[in-house]
This record gives sequence, structure tokens and C-alpha cells, in this order.
Amino acid sequence: MAPTIDTKATAVHHDLPTPDPETPIRPRQPYKLSTLCVAVENPSMKDQYGSSSVPIYQSATFKGVGNEYDYSRSGNPTRSHLEHHIAKISSAARAFAVSSGMAALDVILRLLRPGDEIIAGDDLYGGTNRLLTFIRTHVGVTVHHVDTTNPNAVIPFIHPTKTAMVLLESPTNPLLKIADLALISKEVKERAPNAIVVVDNTMMSPYLQRPLEHGADIVYDSATKYLSGHHDLMAGMITCNRDDLAKQIAFTINSVGNALTPIDCFLLLRGVKTMAVRMDRQQSTSQLVATYLYSLGFKVHYPGLPDHPGREIHQRISDGNGAVLSFETGDKELSEKIVGSTRLWGISVSFGCVNSLISMPCVMSHASIDPATRAARGLPEDLIRLCVGIEDSSDLLDDLEHALIDAGAIALSAQQNKYIRVPPAHAVLNKAVEQLAIGGSNSKGVDQEWFVSAPGKVILFGEHAVVHGVTAIAASVDLRCYGLATPRNDGKLSARFNDIDNFQAEWDIESLPWDASAPLGQTERHPEDLDLQLIEAIQAGPLKELGSDKSQARNAALAFLYLYIKLMNTHRASVHFAVRATLPVGAGLGSSASFSTCAATALLLLSQRITIPSIPPPISADHPHLSHHGRHALERHNAEEANRWAFTAEKILHGNPSGVDNSVAVFGGALTYNRPGFGKTSGMESIQGFGSLRFLLTNSKVPRDTKKLVAGVGLMKLEQPEVVGSILEAIENISAQAKRSLADSSEFGRDSLLRDLSAMIIENHKHLVSLGVSHPSLEMIKETTAAPPYNLSTKLTGAGGGGCAVTLIPDDFSEALMKDLLSELVECGFDPYLTSVGGSGMGILSPYPEHSNTSSKVLLPGQVTPPETPDEAADSPYAGASFRSLFETKSLSELTVWAHSLGKWLYV
Ligand code: PLP
Repeated sequence: MAPTIDTKATAVHHDLPTPDPETPIRPRQPYKLSTLCVAVENPSMKDQYGSSSVPIYQSATFKGVGNEYDYSRSGNPTRSHLEHHIAKISSAARAFAVSSGMAALDVILRLLRPGDEIIAGDDLYGGTNRLLTFIRTHVGVTVHHVDTTNPNAVIPFIHPTKTAMVLLESPTNPLLKIADLALISKEVKERAPNAIVVVDNTMMSPYLQRPLEHGADIVYDSATKYLSGHHDLMAGMITCNRDDLAKQIAFTINSVGNALTPIDCFLLLRGVKTMAVRMDRQQSTSQLVATYLYSLGFKVHYPGLPDHPGREIHQRISDGNGAVLSFETGDKELSEKIVGSTRLWGISVSFGCVNSLISMPCVMSHASIDPATRAARGLPEDLIRLCVGIEDSSDLLDDLEHALIDAGAIALSAQQNKYIRVPPAHAVLNKAVEQLAIGGSNSKGVDQEWFVSAPGKVILFGEHAVVHGVTAIAASVDLRCYGLATPRNDGKLSARFNDIDNFQAEWDIESLPWDASAPLGQTERHPEDLDLQLIEAIQAGPLKELGSDKSQARNAALAFLYLYIKLMNTHRASVHFAVRATLPVGAGLGSSASFSTCAATALLLLSQRITIPSIPPPISADHPHLSHHGRHALERHNAEEANRWAFTAEKILHGNPSGVDNSVAVFGGALTYNRPGFGKTSGMESIQGFGSLRFLLTNSKVPRDTKKLVAGVGLMKLEQPEVVGSILEAIENISAQAKRSLADSSEFGRDSLLRDLSAMIIENHKHLVSLGVSHPSLEMIKETTAAPPYNLSTKLTGAGGGGCAVTLIPDDFSEALMKDLLSELVECGFDPYLTSVGGSGMGILSPYPEHSNTSSKVLLPGQVTPPETPDEAADSPYAGASFRSLFETKSLSELTVWAHSLGKWLYV
């Protein structure tokens, strides 16, 4: 039997309980929502025994033919009661109960057809993003993610016929951002009359906000939250007033069978009865908590505070501010301490329960954060979310205050005789940094031998498009450059770059063009522009003899000498700097940035512009976020300083670098990048939670001309603006989606991430082919890896036209298959590198004896042994020659394992 549909149901139902007819003496007012919530009655479904609680019809089938109920997938009396009740409190004609909030969205998205377009918020619940990605990659629906807090950002995406759905949330979780649901609904209706406006109302519940009253066509709630209120069931509710939509929704629910079970309908119905009292209590305590934190000087996100952005819009649309709020402490470790110090506030995901919950969105759902990738989803890493329950408000405030005191976030002021906020942690940290750092005149910086390393990078999505303002995603690749700075004692400076044109040279330090360099103070930063006079002087002086055939080596030496002269002006230390690269040079994998980072880090250590902690970090401290405040800040300072100087070196090597490569080389992990000048916020943002992923990098060994390829796409854009425009838009969508999937990966699991990425890799490569930047050799790599039994997804990376291809390797890809694939690629003349992506950034081999690997037979940097070879004779200019010669002569295949066998590496 078809589900029960009231085909005439276009008017809003307000039938229960019906007030007495108005009398002229004392007119009756309509019942308030809190009254409606508790009155579960349905005049058309009277119980035969007059039961005051709706019975659970725990029955799959019903006897008879042609009756209202026959099979529970199509309809069930307990469910009908619930649906009638929710419709009543939602200003809706129809309501549908399904098995979860996500099931509700799934039913709604089935209204779409291939070719349709959705406009959705860019700060949605992660599960919503995951489902949108699925329909985008599997159903052929285009999804535009836009900032819905700004209606003007939505309008350009509304297409009169293609826009089929607009999906909104307000307020968002956990930053409580407000969207003007009424204004957006109006704008959408005017421009695309057939588009459906859908609102996820979970954060508010129908008690506080009924978007159908403001122009929405469909509203859904995760009833797991406020509607049920006790975290003891999963459910989703869909409400609408349009009969045509109700019919399609009922059809889908009946077809797929995801309606809510009778027992859960019963529980939900029971929960809804108390919703008004729960929420009244939860909101009033939320206001107290928000005001308390605000008065202490924390940055608090709650629409109940006077300066909350969009507060007026929220007040116009809703009846309350809800019971979720968040605040920033200014320091992530401090936030961790606060969260860990509460007793009454339970540490848990989700919200809407009678019990109060506390969480750190950035840490809890992404526990395995790479230290280099912190600020994901635009969320402050120190953000604490509070979901207020119904406990006594003074107990909740008291517990929070104790936690703030225990964590050191507030302290008793004797003068003011009250608790006040301790100055933001950074001030404290900076003090700690001063105490911790090896520095000053006793430092060993100059005499110390330093072994450093930095990763290459791979562009995962958005190459070429990035030139035209589209977001690109880059990640570190575990093929690295290593740099060794060994002190000499003869007033000379020497350099050897084995893997860059096999370069070596030696200079008298005093003969370097010191006078051509505008001097910089010890703590002064390099100005934005390069010192052209110094560059010319280096070209004409120390590099004069170097032939133009060795252009790569020449550029590398120029960058190294430039940094040396700028940084070592006062120290003028005599050193030998050797570099090895396990990543192919000039193949688009950021070899120049990893070289620049190694050179910058080594020279910064020698010049003592950066220092490492005077107390060794604990052996097991693999997670820097667990380490001491001061050390943490010191690492950050070092990384930022190295990044600035590596960027300067990149300018010498590339003229106008984007800054992506050196940032990845320094911080590791993954980041998104937007070029400045395209109306959007430009810059870089790290992607949090980016766990290491395995990729095969295959160097086609076909040389390419990046500038020519970029210019080719530019020309194509001029000639066919529409075609190229839509390709760029599609790539933008992929990048945005990839960012969301990567950031959500720890929440939704690796399998889901790998599946999404695989689909996006194939899609992005197709677009690059349409831009004309592939090459037969890259297509051959793609086809070889895609063929059975490998079935892998591959795309070109970087400029294309040659260079490298990247292939995603699933976790369960067998070693035997990998061996076959590698030999097939080698047979075709390619160089495959199996590597991981998203790992650590710049590293310094720890100089502490506690960290050296005692089983390693090798001497550590700085350890001087009795001379054994002529090179190490007493009059040798090298102090640590044995280590140096090992470093320079190791084969590339042994280098990484060898470097890591020596001892502990300190990463950013
Ligand atoms: N929408 C929002 C805003 C949510 O917070 C959630 C769950 O956290 C959902 C939808 C999904 O609901 P459910 O977990 O019931 O599937």
C-alpha cells in the first residue's frame, strides 16, 4: 500500500489542542509552543482505550485489506502520531520521521537529478559535506559551497533554471555564524522560482526557530539532538508545507525503508514533550555562561551577546539563542587543560542532551593532528565548545570556574578581590622561550655541526587553476633534501651539492662581497624586495667562474651565498655546506624550496637567529602539542623564521614564488593556497587532521616548460572564456571538497576519505586534460596504473606537459601488486617513487646525546674522533669530517634510512 498522504494538506495544521470558540467576553489566544509541545493529541487517531501516552505499535504488518495501515515501512500508527505532532510544532503541514538526521538529508537530496546545481554553506556539518561530496561525484549534481552568512555571496550562484536546491544552516556549529534565512529564501525565489530552499534546523529545534515561516520549503532536524534531548536515540525529522514535495519525500521513505522504528518514535515523542522546559533552562544557563566568559575577556561566540555578528538577523528569525556556545582562550594547550579540568561538563561529541558537554572541535575530532596543520576548517585551534544542559546553573558555572582556575586561565586578583583572566598565554610563552633557548654568548651555534632536512611538495588539486584564483591543495612528500653544515677552521666557505649538477666550490670568506650587502641587524627581517646589488655582486664575484651550463647549481649557489652574506655578517663562520636530495630536482616536486629551507635552517642555526631548547625534549614527545609551552612557541618561532628566509631564497630561485612550496617544506602536512588578487581572501591555510597518505610519484622524465604551459592555459582562457571558466569552477569545487574531506577524515574514516580522493583525482585529471596540459607520457602512466589488476587513480601534478604524475595508493594495495606495478613503470622508462604525503616539515637532527641512537655505528654531527683518514688529519680544515664524508657519499637509496637511524629528529 502507498504511504498515507493527505493530498489536500497544503494548509498549516494547528488543530491541537483546539481552543474553545472565541467568546466576545474573553477571546482565546492560540496556545503557545511550549503548550503545544506537551499536548500530544490527534483527533483523527483517537486511542480505543484512551491511553494518555501514545502506544508503541511494534508490528511490521497490519491485518485486513484496504485499511489505513498494512505494512510498517509504508506507515505505522506510532510514527503517524509523532509526525503529526512534529508538524504541529514546526508550522508544517507534513512531517516525516526517519532513522537519523543524515537519513533525512539523504531523502531530501533524492529530489535532485543529474545536472542540477546546489548552493550550500561553506561551514556545514561535516556529515552533510560528506553526503554532498557523494552526490557530486556519483550523481552528477554540482555543489557550490558559498559563505551563506553573506547573502550577496549567494546571489551570483543562483541560476534561474539550474539551481535546484539551496541548503542552509543557521546558526552554524560551533562558531554560531548566522545566515539570513528569510532574505536568502526571498532572493532565491525571485531568481530561481523552482529552486527548493532547505534548512538544517538542528542547532535550534522547532521550539526556537521555524524556517518554514521564513520562506524555506523543507526543514530537517537531527532529532538525535534537542527534539529527543537525552542522547538515547538516533532520529531525523523532515517537515514541509508543499504537497508536491511531501509526496516525493513519502515515496522515497517508503521505497528505501529508512522510516523511524515504532519504539524510537515513542521515545522521540516522549522527548519532545519536555523540549520547551529543557530548552528554556538550557538557554538561560547558556546566556549566563556566555556572559560570564565574555566578562572575563574571552572571545565568546553566542548570538545572545551584544556584539555577535548577525545578532539582529538571528533575533528577527528565531525565538532564542540556543544552548551551544563556543569561546577562544588564545592558547590551544590552555584550552586542552580547561577541557580536561571540568567534572560536570562531559567530554563528548554531539549536543542537545540534558547533560552539559564540553569539547574542543579542533582536537577531539582530529586527535591525530599533524603539528604543522592546526587551523583547520577556519576554526581557531583553541576553540572550546560548550553544549549546555539542564543541571543547576550555579553548579555548571562553578565547575567551569574551577576548571579555568586549575588550568591557569584565570587567577584571583588581590587588588580587585575577584578572579580575572591571566594575560593571554603568548606573553607567558615568550618568557618561557627566553629561558629555554640555547642562546647568547655561551651558545655553541657557530661551532656546532648541524644536520637538517626538509620535504618536497606535491600539488594534489588545483594546479593551473591556482593561477586564475582557484584554491590549490599542496602537501609535503616524504622525499627530502638533507643539508649538513660542518664547521671549518681555515676562513673558507665551501659548498657541495652532489645531486645538483654535482656542484662544488670553495671561497675565501673575506673575499665575499660583504660591502655590497645592505646590513641587517641580528633580529631584523629581510625586506620584501631582494637586494639586487648583492645579487649582482655575487654573480660577478664568487660565481663568475661557474659556467652557464650549470644553471641549477648556479642558482642554488647564488641563493646559498645570498643567505650566507645576509645572515652571517657578524659571525662570518667558516663552514662547509653539503646538500643531498632524495627527490628529483626540477620535476615539479618543490626541490628548490626544500633546498632553500635546508640552507635557511642551517644558516639560521649557525647565526643563532634560531636556537633549539636547552633542555632536550623527552624521547617520547612525538606530539609537540603535548610538550612544554615554551618549547612549543620556540618551535613555532623557528619555523616562521626559517619560512621567511626560505621564501627569500625561493625569490632568488624563482623570481615570483607563491610561497606554497617553502611553507610546505617548513611546516609539512597539507595546506590550501589562494593567489592574491581574485577578490577572495588570499593566502594559505593549513588543513588539519591530514593523516599521512601513500602516493606513488612517477617522474615521466619529460622536461617541461612551466611558463609556456601556464601561458597556454591563459591564452585558452582568452579564446574560450566560457569553457575555461567552467573547468576552473569545477576544479575549485574539487579543491574545496578535497579540503573538507581531508579535514573531516578522522571523523568519517579513512575508507571514505580514500574513496572521495580517488574520485576527485580522476575528475581533476580530466579537467587538466581539457586544459591541454597533459602529455602522452603522463597518459601512459595514468593508463598503466588504472588498468586491472591495479585499478588506481592517477593525475598529473604541477604544470604538466611532462614532470610527475601522482597515484593514490589505498591502504590494502598488496606489496606483490606494488612490485609488479613498479617494474612495469620502470620498463616504460619512468622513475616511480613510492612515498607518503602529508608528513613532517623541516627537521633538525637532535644534538643531544640522549637522542642519539647508540646502536648506530656512525658518528653524530659534531662528534670528533681521532683522525683515521688523510681527510681527518689534524690539519684538516674539517672538524667532523667522517660524518661529512659519509653523508656525501651515501647512495640516494640508503640516505633516508641512514639519516633516520642516527637519532631523534626535531620537527616543527
Ligand atoms: N545536522 C547537524 C547540524 C548535526 O549536528 C548533525 C549531527 O551532529 C546532523 C545533521 C546529523 O544528524 P544525525 O547524527 O542524527 O544523523
